Amino acid sequence: MSAAAEPIILLGPPGAGKGTQARRLEEHYGLVQLSTGDVLRAAVKAGTSLGREAKTYMDAGKLVPDDLIIRLIEEWMQKSEAKKGFILDGFPRTVPQAKALDAMLQKRSMKLKAVVEMKVDDKALIERVSGRFSCAKCGEGFHDSFKPLKKTGECDKCHSKEFVRRPDDNAETMKTRLEAYHVQTAPIIPYYRDQGILVQVDGMGEMDAVYAEIKSVLKLA
Ligand code: AMP
Repeated sequence: MSAAAEPIILLGPPGAGKGTQARRLEEHYGLVQLSTGDVLRAAVKAGTSLGREAKTYMDAGKLVPDDLIIRLIEEWMQKSEAKKGFILDGFPRTVPQAKALDAMLQKRSMKLKAVVEMKVDDKALIERVSGRFSCAKCGEGFHDSFKPLKKTGECDKCHSKEFVRRPDDNAETMKTRLEAYHVQTAPIIPYYRDQGILVQVDGMGEMDAVYAEIKSVLKLA
C-alpha cells in the first residue's frame, strides 16, 4: 500500500468546512471523498430502509446509531474506490466508530495518514450553516453572505439553476448538532492525539487560507 493511499480524516464541528475542503483535496489529488452525511442524505432521498431509519435522527440533529454507520462504512470499504487514497468527512464521530475504523483498516493492512481537526468557534458555525446552500446538480457549496452566486440563480461551476438547502441547517437543530459534537465526537480528539496522528488547523480563516494550511500539515505539494 503506497503512502498516497493512506486515508485522511477531516474532523470538525458542523459547518467547519470539512465538505468544502474534502472536495478540493479530491479534485486536486485524485483522492476519493466519503461523506457519511452525503450518503445518508442520498439514502433519505431514495427512501431506502437505511434512509428511513436515519431520517428521524438527522432531522433532530442527533447522531445516527453507531451500528448503522459502521455497517455503511464496512460496505463502502468493499468497493474498489476504497483502495485508493480516501478522505473521510463526517466519520468517525464517536469513539466506538473510531475503534471500528481502526479494526477495518488493520484488516486491510492500511493505516491512517492523519486526522485533521478544523477548529472553529461555535458562534461562527451557526452563522455559517444558516446561510449555506449547494448546487443540486454538481454539489458546489455556496453561502448567502460569504460565497454568493456570481450570477443570480445560476451555479458558478456547472450553470445549473437548481439549489438545495439542508433541512438541518437551521439555528435550532444546530444547537443539538453542536452538542453532539462536543459530547460525542470531541472524545475522539485525544484518541487520535495519543496515536500521534492528530494535526490541527485554524478553520476560522478564508477557504483558501484553510486549504493552504491543510496542504501544509498534510505535507502535500
Ligand atoms: P453531516 O453532513 O456530516 O453534517 O451529517 C448530517 C447528519 O447525518 C448528522 O447530523 C447525523 O445525524 C448524521 N451523520 C453523519 N455522519 C454520521 C456519523 N459518522 N455518525 C452518526 N451520525 C452521522
